[in-house]
Amino acid sequence: AGGNRMHAFSDDMRVKVRERLDAEARLRDALAGDPVETLPVWFQPIVSAATGEITGAEALVRMRAPSGEILGPGHFIPAAEETGLIVPLGEHVMRRAVLRLIEWDEHLGYVSVNVSPRQLAEAGFVPMLANLLAAHPELDSSRLVIEITETALLGFSVDVRERLAMIKALGVRIALDDFGTGYSSLTWLQSVPADVVKLDRSFVAGLAADPRKASIIQAVLWLARSLGMTVVAEGVEEPADWHALRNLDCPSAQGYLFGKPLPPAEFAATLAPRRIV
Ligand code: C2E
Ligand code: CA
Ligand code: CA
Repeated sequence: AGGNRMHAFSDDMRVKVRERLDAEARLRDALAGDPVETLPVWFQPIVSAATGEITGAEALVRMRAPSGEILGPGHFIPAAEETGLIVPLGEHVMRRAVLRLIEWDEHLGYVSVNVSPRQLAEAGFVPMLANLLAAHPELDSSRLVIEITETALLGFSVDVRERLAMIKALGVRIALDDFGTGYSSLTWLQSVPADVVKLDRSFVAGLAADPRKASIIQAVLWLARSLGMTVVAEGVEEPADWHALRNLDCPSAQGYLFGKPLPPAEFAATLAPRRIV
């Protein structure tokens, strides 16, 4: 009744709802069909500051649309989280990551896998992980890292810390993803038995030209080191920022400067003949 504006708003809403339903239906089809083909897991290198060599990789899921187009996680992870499909999707990603770790045993130190708060809250998560590792006794479980965000600590009734302790007992390492962007980073550091801090891109981009960013990174590096944790700087794109990170003694980094996420075969082609630890 209010005329065009109201009309445009409801159209917009309808488009959003339809997109969400499309994403959900596609995801359901993909998981029920051939997820290895339709939900490929790509890998982005993580390099050592000391040697510049690839020591690890982050597993990042993609979706292959029927048209062949590759969609980023922003197109389907939110729907997966809302519907609970993140649980089977996350298991699929974990399986692919473990298979690649074994395949690349001689060439790659570790693989880091994103685990959403919803997955962690699920009672089946730790048993799934334990079974997967038990099925692959040849794999040193410390080569698997799970990345969690601060929101994992919020809004769920389960004791996440207890769950994380069980994961650590399996030998799997824990990384705090997007570190510094949440509301209680220090609480997080204090309460989670993590091994790795992934310093968010927002602190890293433009670091070379911003002394305040440099001070913050220096303090996080010091704090992490005192707590026995290592640090990965995320989103390094500029050589000047990489130079500044090395001057601050940041141990490792990830970003387009070193390589974008790639399909497994292309990623494997970039690996050194021997694993660098
Ligand atoms: P994230 O965990 O923070 O992953 C890093 C994202 O930053 C990736 O985007 C990566 O491609 C991008 N990136 C890496 N280096 C650079 C850089 O130098 N510059 C810029 N601008 N970006 C860079 P991607 O692959 O689109 O993933 C987006 C997010 O989707 C991830 O953010 C993560 O939260 C989520 N995600 C991806 N795969 C999974 C998964 O298997 N499970 C879950 N639960 N979430 C996932
Ligand atoms: Ca991540
Ligand atoms: Ca991140």
